[in-house]
Amino acid sequence: MLTFHGPDRARRGAELQDPGLVRDGAVLFRAGRIVAAGTTDALAHRLRKYRIPPSRLREINCRGRLLTPGLVDSHTHLVFAAPRLDDFERRIAGWDSARILAAGGGILESVRHLRASPDSLLLKSARARLRIMRAQGVTTVEIKSGYGLSVSEELRILRLSQLAAGAEGLDAALTLLGAHAVPMEFAGRRQAYLRLLRDQLLPAVRVMRPKLSLAPSRLNLATLRKQNPIAEFVDVFCDPLAFTLPEARAWLRAARRYGFRLKIHADQTADSGGAALAAQLGAVSADHLDFTPPPARRRLANSSTVATFLPGVSLFMNRPFPAARDWIADGAAINLASDFNPGTAPLLSLPLVMALGCDAMRLTPAEAWHAVTLNAAAALNRERLCGSLMPGKRADLALFDTDDFRAVPYLLGGNLCAGVWCAGHWHPAGK
Ligand SMILES: [Zn+2]
Repeated sequence: MLTFHGPDRARRGAELQDPGLVRDGAVLFRAGRIVAAGTTDALAHRLRKYRIPPSRLREINCRGRLLTPGLVDSHTHLVFAAPRLDDFERRIAGWDSARILAAGGGILESVRHLRASPDSLLLKSARARLRIMRAQGVTTVEIKSGYGLSVSEELRILRLSQLAAGAEGLDAALTLLGAHAVPMEFAGRRQAYLRLLRDQLLPAVRVMRPKLSLAPSRLNLATLRKQNPIAEFVDVFCDPLAFTLPEARAWLRAARRYGFRLKIHADQTADSGGAALAAQLGAVSADHLDFTPPPARRRLANSSTVATFLPGVSLFMNRPFPAARDWIADGAAINLASDFNPGTAPLLSLPLVMALGCDAMRLTPAEAWHAVTLNAAAALNRERLCGSLMPGKRADLALFDTDDFRAVPYLLGGNLCAGVWCAGHWHPAGK
């Protein structure tokens, strides 16, 4: 069993080598919360101390398999209408992003598809994707808007995201990414679009703080439509392909005034200044970081901002991987996420992301495990709620068909996950 015991904060440097391994481990949970975790012997002793009668106890025998905290995927663009298969072939043929965009592909193609799709289709596909993620160990998922790019469509994505995650029993962290691209109807009028986001979109979203949700959600779309949708984070694509550094700074500062926590797509295709901006604004995470220069890397590493790597994008786009070892050497709180999206990372498996972290970025298995549990929780402002098996946290657990934690990031493809508990509710992987 991996506990990631210790304080509720992201791990850095040498701390990343200790996943809190317990042999013959056990977890006691009650009403969706962890009461205790330790060796089976120690827990038996605690039961006597708590005077819990055996008749009140339900024992689940994991039969020597690996038990870990539920995995946390801190960066996804989960709600979209269709895969971008034409772009896929164009990229293989050597087209760059600008040429794909000019041919009608890229993010704006996903925007056209989403706007033309009914709620029912978006909800059904989002739920199917969440079930695949859950079946590979995920219990908390971040979901970004960003394929609507109008006030009503961005709000629709937030509502559908909340509904989809609730229906699958998952903890969702919602992020408003209206600043993903300039929509077609604002071509040549980017400042007008940013004003619309600031003056009409931000006030229409309720700021949410992460909370310990223990009961399965009973939401429906009719209820959700009656109120402004919620989000915890506001994000921006700060990149030569999207928004400039001054535009990103102004948008994020406006979001911060409304009380949102901040995230940044930073330095994905070039040094955009995004990593330094994240540190300056106290963003909860800076994501991508493929082209961050060393001074900005050191600045971010010494800040509270989590450094999120998305190696699935590097693989899919046939680009170099982020220099994770340099980030760790500089003391960064590193995190791995899928960036699941239709254009640059159609990747639903967080264990495969861990494998890329180990094979392509030279993370140790223990580092890769931290990067999808406690550190990923910190990237979602949830380090006190999930990501480790500490008393008081939500009973989010993942069970794997192996007795060695290294086997999970070792396997390329396939699925070792047997199922997860989300707030104490069992969801088998359905193999
Ligand atoms: Zn992204």
